[in-house]
Amino acid sequence: MEKIAVLIKQVPATESVKIDPKTGVMMREGLAVEVNPLDLHAIEEAVRLKEDLGAHVTAVTMGPPAAEKAARFAIAMGCDEGVVVSDRAFAGSDTLATSTVLAETLRKLGPFGLILAGERATDGETGQVGPAVAALLGFSVLTYVSKLEPREGQVAFERAVEGGHERLLAPLPALAVVVKEINVPRLCTLAGKLRGKRAEIRFLSAADLDLPAGRLGLTGSPTKVVRVDYPQVVRKGRKVSAAENFDGAMAELGQFLKNLGLEGI
Ligand SMILES: Cc1cc2nc3c(=O)[nH]c(=O)nc-3n(C[C@H](O)[C@H](O)[C@H](O)COP(=O)(O)OP(=O)(O)OC[C@H]3O[C@@H](n4cnc5c(N)ncnc54)[C@H](O)[C@@H]3O)c2cc1C
Repeated sequence: MEKIAVLIKQVPATESVKIDPKTGVMMREGLAVEVNPLDLHAIEEAVRLKEDLGAHVTAVTMGPPAAEKAARFAIAMGCDEGVVVSDRAFAGSDTLATSTVLAETLRKLGPFGLILAGERATDGETGQVGPAVAALLGFSVLTYVSKLEPREGQVAFERAVEGGHERLLAPLPALAVVVKEINVPRLCTLAGKLRGKRAEIRFLSAADLDLPAGRLGLTGSPTKVVRVDYPQVVRKGRKVSAAENFDGAMAELGQFLKNLGLEGI
């Protein structure tokens, strides 16, 4: 295995991502960012394979120029190089347009024997990008991967499925979407952080990719967010205190349940 790629996404460092109700687009302004936590397992696995097999590992991210920070972090963890694919033409990309750009980038940077991705991004959370990139490249698609062992022309792997694990073999080249249990991501060492800080990050734009404008950004995105609704949480509960008058409280509770038609339960 000579070349391995790992897909990483920079995400808001919060669980409470808001969607603009008018445009249906994620509101990312002013939010602190981090590498998608599940992608740390993909980076760790790529670096372990590098250490075992001597492969060269490239971390690839599509995002704003600031995603350079994510590429530097991947290098600090042990990847050899970082590539940021960034262009205003990519704005508004849905998962298909994102996967199209990533697949074309990987085609340009490759050939890769193995590509690793996280299970899902904590902001978009579709889990579509890994399998979509594999399909666009014509690679074997390995999902829910909890163990990986590349061999000559093949990869042995385990899939975490309900109630156990499946053991399978697939032909290379392959793209593996890994789950948390595959490994424990390492902490960056000081030497790693310095390497990440000093590394030259490669930037690619739409002009570097052989893709027609119609496949990029909003025009290349068949998904249309028509409306976004948040569920309204309306609490109609009533507090009944039994501390001072137990019988009275029980009677009140009984009447409350009766009014709801729940007295027989
Ligand atoms: C109609 C529509 C409009 C949108 N408009 C915008 C917009 O204007 N701006 C915006 O920022 N987002 C926008 N998005 C969100 C954007 O499509 C997703 O962030 C992106 O496609 C990735 O999908 P996901 O977050 O569900 O990733 P998942 O499929 O859950 O990610 C799985 C794995 O794929 C890899 N991966 C995912 N994304 C990337 C990436 N960018 N680079 C490298 N690896 C990656 C990672 O390994 C990740 O763990 C829009 C989405 C829709 C549906």
